[in-house]
Amino acid sequence: MNYYHEKKLAHAYLISTNNINKCLKVLLNVIKNIFCVDTFSDNCNKCSLCHLIDINNLPSLKIIAPDGEFIKKAQILELKNFFAKNSIYTNESMYIILNAEKMNKESANTMLKFLEEPDSDVIGFFLTNEKDNILPTILSRCQELTAHFPNAYYEELNIAEDKYQELNNILKEYLMKIEIEKRKQILYNREYLSNLNLDRSDIKVFLQMMLFTYKSVLNNELEENSPYSFLNKYSFNNIEKKTNLLIELLKEISYNVNVELLLDRLVIEFEVINNETL
Ligand SMILES: [Zn+2]
Repeated sequence: MNYYHEKKLAHAYLISTNNINKCLKVLLNVIKNIFCVDTFSDNCNKCSLCHLIDINNLPSLKIIAPDGEFIKKAQILELKNFFAKNSIYTNESMYIILNAEKMNKESANTMLKFLEEPDSDVIGFFLTNEKDNILPTILSRCQELTAHFPNAYYEELNIAEDKYQELNNILKEYLMKIEIEKRKQILYNREYLSNLNLDRSDIKVFLQMMLFTYKSVLNNELEENSPYSFLNKYSFNNIEKKTNLLIELLKEISYNVNVELLLDRLVIEFEVINNETL
Protein backbone atom coordinates (compact mmCIF):
# COMPACT_ATOMS: atom_id res chain seq x y z
CA MET A 1 0.00 0.00 0.00
CA ASN A 2 2.84 2.39 0.86
CA TYR A 3 4.65 1.61 -2.37
CA TYR A 4 1.46 2.27 -4.26
CA HIS A 5 0.84 5.66 -2.68
CA GLU A 6 4.49 6.63 -3.14
CA LYS A 7 4.13 5.53 -6.75
CA LYS A 8 6.97 3.08 -6.27
CA LEU A 9 5.17 -0.11 -7.22
CA ALA A 10 7.26 -2.43 -9.39
CA HIS A 11 5.78 -4.06 -12.48
CA ALA A 12 6.10 -7.56 -11.14
CA TYR A 13 6.36 -9.11 -7.72
CA LEU A 14 7.29 -12.63 -6.83
CA ILE A 15 5.76 -13.54 -3.50
CA SER A 16 7.02 -16.72 -1.91
CA THR A 17 4.63 -18.03 0.65
CA ASN A 18 3.89 -21.19 2.59
CA ASN A 19 0.17 -20.77 1.96
CA ILE A 20 -0.98 -19.72 -1.51
CA ASN A 21 -4.66 -19.42 -0.58
CA LYS A 22 -4.12 -17.23 2.44
CA CYS A 23 -1.62 -15.18 0.51
CA LEU A 24 -4.14 -14.64 -2.28
CA LYS A 25 -6.73 -13.51 0.25
CA VAL A 26 -4.38 -10.91 1.73
CA LEU A 27 -3.25 -9.76 -1.70
CA LEU A 28 -6.85 -9.32 -2.89
CA ASN A 29 -7.50 -7.21 0.18
CA VAL A 30 -4.56 -4.99 -0.72
CA ILE A 31 -5.83 -4.71 -4.29
CA LYS A 32 -9.32 -3.86 -3.08
CA ASN A 33 -7.75 -1.28 -0.83
CA ILE A 34 -6.10 0.27 -3.88
CA PHE A 35 -9.11 0.10 -6.19
CA CYS A 36 -11.92 0.80 -3.73
CA VAL A 37 -13.84 3.93 -4.64
CA ASP A 38 -15.37 4.17 -1.20
CA THR A 39 -13.56 4.20 2.14
CA PHE A 40 -12.17 0.73 2.16
CA SER A 41 -12.92 -1.56 5.08
CA ASP A 42 -12.48 -5.32 5.21
CA ASN A 43 -16.08 -5.74 4.18
CA CYS A 44 -16.69 -2.92 1.79
CA ASN A 45 -20.24 -3.67 0.77
CA LYS A 46 -20.75 -0.34 -0.83
CA CYS A 47 -18.66 -0.10 -3.96
CA SER A 48 -19.07 -2.17 -7.05
CA LEU A 49 -15.31 -2.56 -7.60
CA CYS A 50 -14.84 -4.43 -4.32
CA HIS A 51 -17.86 -6.53 -5.14
CA LEU A 52 -16.51 -7.37 -8.60
CA ILE A 53 -13.20 -8.43 -7.01
CA ASP A 54 -15.10 -10.59 -4.52
CA ILE A 55 -16.82 -12.46 -7.32
CA ASN A 56 -13.64 -12.50 -9.44
CA ASN A 57 -15.27 -10.52 -12.17
CA LEU A 58 -13.37 -7.24 -12.31
CA PRO A 59 -12.20 -6.84 -15.92
CA SER A 60 -8.93 -5.17 -14.90
CA LEU A 61 -7.90 -7.96 -12.56
CA LYS A 62 -7.03 -11.41 -13.87
CA ILE A 63 -6.20 -14.41 -11.73
CA ILE A 64 -4.49 -17.34 -13.42
CA ALA A 65 -4.20 -20.77 -11.83
CA PRO A 66 -2.59 -23.92 -13.29
CA ASP A 67 -4.78 -25.58 -15.91
CA GLY A 68 -4.12 -29.18 -14.92
CA GLU A 69 -0.46 -29.77 -14.26
CA PHE A 70 0.85 -26.56 -15.80
CA ILE A 71 0.11 -22.95 -16.47
CA LYS A 72 -0.18 -23.10 -20.24
CA LYS A 73 1.05 -20.79 -22.95
CA ALA A 74 -2.51 -20.14 -24.10
CA GLN A 75 -3.40 -18.79 -20.67
CA ILE A 76 -0.54 -16.27 -20.78
CA LEU A 77 -1.41 -15.26 -24.36
CA GLU A 78 -4.98 -14.66 -23.32
CA LEU A 79 -3.74 -12.47 -20.48
CA LYS A 80 -1.52 -10.51 -22.85
CA ASN A 81 -4.33 -9.87 -25.30
CA PHE A 82 -6.61 -8.93 -22.51
CA PHE A 83 -4.32 -6.20 -21.22
CA ALA A 84 -3.57 -4.88 -24.72
CA LYS A 85 -6.48 -2.53 -24.22
CA ASN A 86 -6.35 -0.04 -21.40
CA SER A 87 -8.65 -0.55 -18.50
CA ILE A 88 -11.61 1.76 -18.22
CA TYR A 89 -12.40 0.53 -14.74
CA THR A 90 -9.27 1.28 -12.76
CA ASN A 91 -6.04 3.23 -13.17
CA GLU A 92 -3.99 0.06 -13.26
CA SER A 93 -4.61 -3.42 -14.49
CA MET A 94 -3.36 -6.27 -12.36
CA TYR A 95 -2.85 -9.99 -12.74
CA ILE A 96 -2.07 -12.69 -10.25
CA ILE A 97 -0.37 -15.95 -11.24
CA LEU A 98 -1.06 -18.66 -8.68
CA ASN A 99 1.61 -21.36 -8.33
CA ALA A 100 3.86 -19.50 -10.72
CA GLU A 101 6.38 -22.37 -10.52
CA LYS A 102 3.91 -24.34 -12.66
CA MET A 103 4.67 -22.25 -15.74
CA ASN A 104 6.30 -24.56 -18.25
CA LYS A 105 9.03 -23.40 -20.61
CA GLU A 106 6.62 -22.24 -23.27
CA SER A 107 4.37 -20.24 -21.00
CA ALA A 108 7.37 -18.79 -19.14
CA ASN A 109 8.86 -17.59 -22.43
CA THR A 110 5.60 -15.94 -23.39
CA MET A 111 5.42 -14.40 -19.94
CA LEU A 112 8.97 -13.17 -20.30
CA LYS A 113 8.13 -11.23 -23.45
CA PHE A 114 5.21 -9.70 -21.60
CA LEU A 115 7.50 -8.68 -18.74
CA GLU A 116 10.11 -7.25 -21.05
CA GLU A 117 7.76 -4.70 -22.51
CA PRO A 118 6.56 -3.22 -19.28
CA ASP A 119 3.41 -1.28 -19.66
CA SER A 120 3.42 1.13 -16.76
CA ASP A 121 -0.20 0.45 -15.97
CA VAL A 122 0.03 -3.32 -15.60
CA ILE A 123 1.20 -4.89 -12.36
CA GLY A 124 1.77 -8.59 -11.87
CA PHE A 125 1.96 -10.79 -8.80
CA PHE A 126 3.54 -14.23 -9.02
CA LEU A 127 2.65 -16.39 -6.05
CA THR A 128 4.69 -19.49 -5.33
CA ASN A 129 5.39 -21.96 -2.58
CA GLU A 130 8.32 -23.42 -4.52
CA LYS A 131 10.53 -20.46 -5.27
CA ASP A 132 13.42 -22.74 -6.26
CA ASN A 133 11.40 -23.95 -9.24
CA ILE A 134 10.77 -20.50 -10.68
CA LEU A 135 12.80 -19.94 -13.84
CA PRO A 136 15.71 -17.56 -13.12
CA THR A 137 14.76 -15.39 -16.09
CA ILE A 138 11.35 -14.73 -14.53
CA LEU A 139 12.83 -14.33 -11.07
CA SER A 140 15.30 -11.69 -12.25
CA ARG A 141 12.47 -9.49 -13.51
CA CYS A 142 10.49 -9.56 -10.30
CA GLN A 143 10.82 -7.84 -6.97
CA GLU A 144 10.78 -10.48 -4.29
CA LEU A 145 8.52 -10.53 -1.26
CA THR A 146 7.82 -13.24 1.28
CA ALA A 147 4.57 -13.91 3.11
CA HIS A 148 4.72 -16.47 5.88
CA PHE A 149 1.54 -17.66 7.56
CA PRO A 150 1.22 -19.74 10.73
CA ASN A 151 0.82 -23.38 9.81
CA ALA A 152 -2.25 -25.47 10.35
CA TYR A 153 -2.44 -26.93 13.84
CA TYR A 154 -1.47 -30.42 12.70
CA GLU A 155 1.60 -29.01 10.98
CA GLU A 156 2.61 -27.35 14.22
CA LEU A 157 2.31 -30.75 15.90
CA ASN A 158 4.52 -32.18 13.19
CA ILE A 159 2.12 -34.96 12.21
CA ALA A 160 0.22 -35.85 9.05
CA GLU A 161 -3.31 -34.61 8.66
CA ASP A 162 -4.90 -38.08 8.83
CA LYS A 163 -2.99 -38.86 12.02
CA TYR A 164 -4.27 -35.61 13.43
CA GLN A 165 -7.85 -36.54 12.53
CA GLU A 166 -7.46 -39.96 14.09
CA LEU A 167 -6.10 -38.58 17.36
CA ASN A 168 -8.67 -35.80 17.36
CA ASN A 169 -11.49 -38.35 17.18
CA ILE A 170 -9.95 -40.34 20.00
CA LEU A 171 -9.61 -37.18 22.07
CA LYS A 172 -13.24 -36.24 21.55
CA GLU A 173 -14.45 -39.68 22.56
CA TYR A 174 -12.16 -39.88 25.56
CA LEU A 175 -13.03 -36.45 26.92
CA MET A 176 -16.72 -37.16 26.53
CA LYS A 177 -16.30 -40.35 28.52
CA ILE A 178 -14.40 -38.80 31.38
CA GLU A 179 -16.01 -35.36 31.46
CA ILE A 180 -19.61 -35.89 30.41
CA GLU A 181 -20.53 -39.45 31.11
CA LYS A 182 -18.56 -39.11 34.30
CA ARG A 183 -17.52 -42.71 34.32
CA LYS A 184 -15.94 -42.86 37.68
CA GLN A 185 -14.36 -46.20 37.00
CA ILE A 186 -10.71 -45.32 36.84
CA LEU A 187 -9.90 -48.78 35.56
CA TYR A 188 -12.30 -48.40 32.69
CA ASN A 189 -10.79 -45.05 31.64
CA ARG A 190 -7.32 -46.46 31.90
CA GLU A 191 -8.21 -49.53 29.89
CA TYR A 192 -9.71 -47.37 27.19
CA LEU A 193 -6.37 -45.62 26.74
CA SER A 194 -4.46 -48.92 26.74
CA ASN A 195 -6.72 -50.44 24.13
CA LEU A 196 -5.91 -47.64 21.71
CA ASN A 197 -2.41 -49.06 21.38
CA LEU A 198 -0.87 -45.67 20.81
CA ASP A 199 2.89 -45.48 20.69
CA ARG A 200 4.93 -43.03 22.68
CA SER A 201 5.01 -40.26 20.08
CA ASP A 202 1.24 -40.58 19.50
CA ILE A 203 0.63 -40.28 23.22
CA LYS A 204 2.75 -37.18 23.33
CA VAL A 205 0.72 -35.56 20.54
CA PHE A 206 -2.50 -36.77 22.21
CA LEU A 207 -1.46 -34.98 25.41
CA GLN A 208 -0.49 -31.87 23.44
CA MET A 209 -3.89 -31.77 21.81
CA MET A 210 -5.54 -32.33 25.16
CA LEU A 211 -3.51 -29.46 26.62
CA PHE A 212 -4.46 -27.24 23.70
CA THR A 213 -8.14 -28.00 24.34
CA TYR A 214 -8.03 -27.28 28.08
CA LYS A 215 -5.97 -24.15 27.50
CA SER A 216 -8.54 -22.79 25.08
CA VAL A 217 -11.26 -23.42 27.68
CA LEU A 218 -9.13 -21.62 30.25
CA ASN A 219 -8.58 -18.64 27.96
CA ASN A 220 -12.18 -18.59 26.88
CA GLU A 221 -11.10 -19.30 23.32
CA LEU A 222 -13.24 -22.28 22.41
CA GLU A 223 -14.86 -21.74 19.07
CA GLU A 224 -18.59 -21.24 19.07
CA ASN A 225 -19.51 -24.69 17.81
CA SER A 226 -16.66 -26.47 19.48
CA PRO A 227 -17.35 -30.12 20.32
CA TYR A 228 -15.69 -29.38 23.65
CA SER A 229 -18.12 -26.72 24.85
CA PHE A 230 -19.25 -29.17 27.55
CA LEU A 231 -15.99 -28.34 29.31
CA ASN A 232 -17.32 -24.84 30.01
CA LYS A 233 -19.39 -26.22 32.88
CA TYR A 234 -16.23 -26.75 34.91
CA SER A 235 -14.81 -24.01 37.08
CA PHE A 236 -11.72 -22.05 36.19
CA ASN A 237 -9.95 -23.72 39.10
CA ASN A 238 -10.81 -27.18 37.81
CA ILE A 239 -9.63 -26.49 34.26
CA GLU A 240 -6.50 -24.73 35.48
CA LYS A 241 -5.49 -27.76 37.54
CA LYS A 242 -5.98 -30.07 34.57
CA THR A 243 -3.99 -27.71 32.37
CA ASN A 244 -1.10 -27.66 34.83
CA LEU A 245 -1.15 -31.43 35.14
CA LEU A 246 -0.95 -31.82 31.36
CA ILE A 247 1.99 -29.41 31.17
CA GLU A 248 3.75 -31.49 33.82
CA LEU A 249 3.05 -34.79 32.06
CA LEU A 250 4.31 -33.40 28.78
CA LYS A 251 7.56 -32.41 30.43
CA GLU A 252 7.92 -35.91 31.81
CA ILE A 253 7.22 -37.66 28.54
CA SER A 254 10.19 -35.82 27.04
CA TYR A 255 12.32 -37.31 29.82
CA ASN A 256 11.75 -40.94 28.84
CA VAL A 257 9.45 -41.60 31.73
CA ASN A 258 7.48 -44.87 31.51
CA VAL A 259 4.40 -44.17 29.38
CA GLU A 260 2.15 -46.63 31.23
CA LEU A 261 2.87 -44.90 34.53
CA LEU A 262 2.27 -41.57 32.93
CA LEU A 263 -1.17 -42.60 31.69
CA ASP A 264 -1.93 -43.98 35.15
CA ARG A 265 -1.23 -40.56 36.57
CA LEU A 266 -3.33 -38.84 33.93
CA VAL A 267 -6.39 -40.95 34.70
CA ILE A 268 -6.01 -40.91 38.47
CA GLU A 269 -5.23 -37.23 38.86
CA PHE A 270 -8.03 -36.13 36.55
CA GLU A 271 -10.36 -38.12 38.74
CA VAL A 272 -8.94 -36.50 41.87
CA ILE A 273 -9.28 -33.02 40.39
CA ASN A 274 -12.89 -33.68 39.39
CA ASN A 275 -13.67 -34.92 42.87
CA GLU A 276 -12.09 -31.92 44.54
CA THR A 277 -13.31 -29.11 42.33
CA LEU A 278 -16.27 -28.82 40.07
ZN1 LIG B 1 -14.91 -0.84 -2.01
